[in-house]
Amino acid sequence: MIYSTKLAPQISDYSSYLLNIMEQINLKSFKKKVEINKRRLKLVLTKIEKKPPRHLDQLAEKIEPEVWKEVSCLSCANCCKVMTPTFTNEDIKRIAPHFGQTPKEFRDQWLVKDNNDDWTNKINPCQFLDLKTNMCKIYEIRPADCSGFPHLTKKKMVDYIHVHKQNIEYCPATYAMVEKFDQLLFKKDN
Ligand code: SF4
Ligand code: SF4
Repeated sequence: MIYSTKLAPQISDYSSYLLNIMEQINLKSFKKKVEINKRRLKLVLTKIEKKPPRHLDQLAEKIEPEVWKEVSCLSCANCCKVMTPTFTNEDIKRIAPHFGQTPKEFRDQWLVKDNNDDWTNKINPCQFLDLKTNMCKIYEIRPADCSGFPHLTKKKMVDYIHVHKQNIEYCPATYAMVEKFDQLLFKKDN
């Protein structure tokens, strides 16, 4: 899954409290927005997939910084709460010693194989999420999937549209990106 913006500034307990209030309000309204707009936005992605505009990947690179001006992962952490990253063997070998565990002990405690034979979390929210601050407790050594999520500028975006279609329901950054694509590609003359 996740996030370049989930850096680790130290925040006070009071700020953390405010952040949690803000987060609840944001996620609640986000869920409502998704219910209203997801069909339209998924259609936008289908149109892009069927007839990719020229320079699609360059366009995504242009849009991404605008998305991160609007969306703060620290006021969200929805992906860490409702989704699971996949853990590669390299991830497991890197993270397990941090807890004084062998890879097998780590897998037995935290992970389960999914239908694609990938290692994923047994529980949600992720066991490494600090629910008070929305910070990742293993940020420096988090799974590669987390560090890249939500992969807004993944190479060959057209091959990744099916993932954006899923993520749009959970990730405000993906949602914002697709809104911007809609504005730029299909609504600009309205
Ligand atoms: S490892 Fe960290 S970044 Fe990845 S899902 Fe868990 S809390 Fe989130
Ligand atoms: S769901 Fe998206 S916006 Fe929210 S924390 Fe994850 S990457 Fe950031």
